[in-house]
Amino acid sequence: MKVYKFGGTSVKDADGVRNLKKVLQTIGYNDTVLVISAMGKMTNAFELLVTAHLLDDEKGVKEVIQYKEIKDFHIKMINNLFDDDNHPIFEEVEDLFNDLNGFLFDNNFSDYDYVYDQIVSYAELLSTKICSAYLLENGIKNKWLDIRKCIKTDNHFRQANVDWEITCDLLNRKIKSDILTVTQGFIAGDNYGKTTTLGREGSDYSAAIIAYCLDAKEITIFKDVSGVLSADPREFENAILLNQISYKEAVELAFFGASVIHPKTLQPLQKKKIPLRVKSFVNPLEKGTLVVNGVDIEPKTPCFILKKNQILLSISDKDFHFIMENDISEIFDYLHQYSLKVNLIQNSAISFTVCIEDNFNNFGSLIQDLNDKYKVLYNKNATLYTIRHFSEETIRKIELDKKVLIKQLSRETAQIVVQN
Ligand code: ADP
Ligand code: ASP
Ligand code: MG
Repeated sequence: MKVYKFGGTSVKDADGVRNLKKVLQTIGYNDTVLVISAMGKMTNAFELLVTAHLLDDEKGVKEVIQYKEIKDFHIKMINNLFDDDNHPIFEEVEDLFNDLNGFLFDNNFSDYDYVYDQIVSYAELLSTKICSAYLLENGIKNKWLDIRKCIKTDNHFRQANVDWEITCDLLNRKIKSDILTVTQGFIAGDNYGKTTTLGREGSDYSAAIIAYCLDAKEITIFKDVSGVLSADPREFENAILLNQISYKEAVELAFFGASVIHPKTLQPLQKKKIPLRVKSFVNPLEKGTLVVNGVDIEPKTPCFILKKNQILLSISDKDFHFIMENDISEIFDYLHQYSLKVNLIQNSAISFTVCIEDNFNNFGSLIQDLNDKYKVLYNKNATLYTIRHFSEETIRKIELDKKVLIKQLSRETAQIVVQN
């Protein structure tokens, strides 16, 4: 088997869906599972719907507006893709919106993470239903699969953890190689039939889970770029294509924030030595980047990664005591409790500094807790630059005209936090 994953950018409009069909016709789709994520920026739009649903104090006004905007987008999409107004997809899309509406109407829960997963998952269901129907209509036989019935997780909503044994068993039972399977990324299900999600941008990871469980021979992730580049072309000029990188190098790049691959994707693939190809959905016959065991990086070149919205937090004892192991352990307990992602650590005798990311809006609570015992200083809105395979010259280039807050060098990696 092989697994293909098409992200939101590839199906952001009707032409994108048409291109998906062309790509499949060009490269073939025998023994294939096709993972498609939400169309364009629909996950962001659904996030706004969750906020409106839970926090709107204007009697649902914002909720209704946001719901309509999302519905209009999908209706416009199917109107554009299907000539026949009586095509069953119109009813299927309507059914999904009725379900969603039912949830919004009946829901009494206020737990943000739980409600988020129940609502945001519709973006993936809608996208895959529409693409599956379009492919079928245009001669590509396929079977739509509800991945929530196969990828099973705990109920850690918004960051669910996979139960690998059950998942592998279910995937092997439900997926047949005689027909193209079309399914969702990012979403999964817990044991009580509730929808969970695997973390934003998690559909790369879903594809890797499926590849791992099916012992796939390869996985290909299609992007709007020609592969993994030496930097994000939106942020840096002159980024070059990496022809081949090792799993380890890919993990490092993804971990430090190269958003072209979701960081969790690599571990299951590396475990079973499943080659990963990252290539362009515009030029699918080009080779792109191959991620396998082997040379670290080819061509050998410095790679630049930028992470915005960082917080540089320095914690010291109120009475000028040393920061000891027990303090660090306590601080990390808090960071874990509040799901704050740590991207850099630096320790001195009397202070402990971390560069963190507050993806779940918990920083205020952390500060409240830390303030009881420690003196806390922080810079919000900082940017973290990471350079893999750095040289003095590349560091100088990054530091030019910027206010450097902290810098750390190891053998292959330089990290520089600057104030915006
Ligand atoms: P998807 O459509 O799967 O959601 P993304 O938009 O998440 O795809 O990822 C593709 C984007 O990742 C590219 O458009 C590019 O701007 C960005 N990106 C960040 N770092 C890199 C990198 N090192 N190489 C290539 N693309 C990168
Ligand atoms: N649609 C989800 C998101 O935007 C998952 C993904 O695209 O990978 O986060
Ligand atoms: Mg994405």
